[in-house]
Amino acid sequence: MANSFRLIFLILFCFNCGEQVQKQQDNTPVSEAKQNSFAIIIHGGAGTILKENMTPELEKAYKSKLEEAIRVGHSILKQGGSSLDAVQKTINVLEDSPLFNAGKGAVFTNTETNELDASIMDGKTLNAGASAGTTTVKNPIDLARLIMEQSPHVMMSGEGADRFAKEHGLDIVDPSYFYTERRYNALKRIQEKETNSTIDTTSVSVNFYDSDIKNFKFGTVGCAALDTHGNLAAGTSTGGMTNKRYGRIGDSPIIGAGTYANNNSCAVSSTGWGEYFIRAMVAYDISALMQYKSLTLKEAAQEVIQNKVPELGGDGGIIAIDNNGNMVAEFNTAGMYRAQMNAEGDLKIGIYKD
Ligand code: ASP
Repeated sequence: MANSFRLIFLILFCFNCGEQVQKQQDNTPVSEAKQNSFAIIIHGGAGTILKENMTPELEKAYKSKLEEAIRVGHSILKQGGSSLDAVQKTINVLEDSPLFNAGKGAVFTNTETNELDASIMDGKTLNAGASAGTTTVKNPIDLARLIMEQSPHVMMSGEGADRFAKEHGLDIVDPSYFYTERRYNALKRIQEKETNSTIDTTSVSVNFYDSDIKNFKFGTVGCAALDTHGNLAAGTSTGGMTNKRYGRIGDSPIIGAGTYANNNSCAVSSTGWGEYFIRAMVAYDISALMQYKSLTLKEAAQEVIQNKVPELGGDGGIIAIDNNGNMVAEFNTAGMYRAQMNAEGDLKIGIYKD
């Protein structure tokens, strides 16, 4: 009798052990089923993007560039390529377009220069690379990847980063390459407002900045992808914020704020008012809520973008994808340029709130 009790106990114990082992190996939140064997999502910046301020031609131009970019990444993924390649090549298309505040279309600093930031992260290895304040690198996302793969560092800035890019044969341009009339006029407009304002604008916390700076930063670009090997990656590239002061660095090149990827949770790229996104550690926070609190991607993104960031006083959005291929575009602004494609090739493009 005692023996049969012992046997039943042993069987129950072993059964439970098996379950424990299985739970530990599977980090994915239980509520989200596998959606896509591969998928890709992009953004082209968030802000006060209103239909009434948009011409049909401009809207068409944005949509077609978003489509062109996402199709590049999608075809890489479809052929079994890596999420890192898909992220980088997709961002290259957006960087080469004057429409977006990244690469060619980067905004101007207070001293009429263009200082570009970028970052990329590999969700499989947790390797990451970032560059900040470069002035001659045509495609900063390429530099971010170069730093990740060809240097012992995660982040390089300014002259040193420009030099590293040149030494490794990246495309180098004269700083005048980044001149676009549209961005230059935006700088002049904000500077005019500043001069006419009676408030001391040397402090970033003054009311003038609080109300107006967020309207001068559209167009940061970002991409997150899941490849057929189950690997996640994310990247972000930007010119930062119009009229930014000497050496200012935003969230885009900060791993954990502007970009984060982890195969155990998700890949995220942010866009918004960088000072707040750094303080809220937006991209990592979304991943952490999934990993440690078992929130779904949607729940985690909502928590950070609709509660945490606005409570601090910031605005913006994210695009993200989880390790099951679920995609989320979450923003607390009037609009966010965005597009997503699943493994079947279904394409969704959006600009305004649905
Ligand atoms: N996050 C960027 C920055 O603060 C700007 C943006 O995404 O619009 O530099």
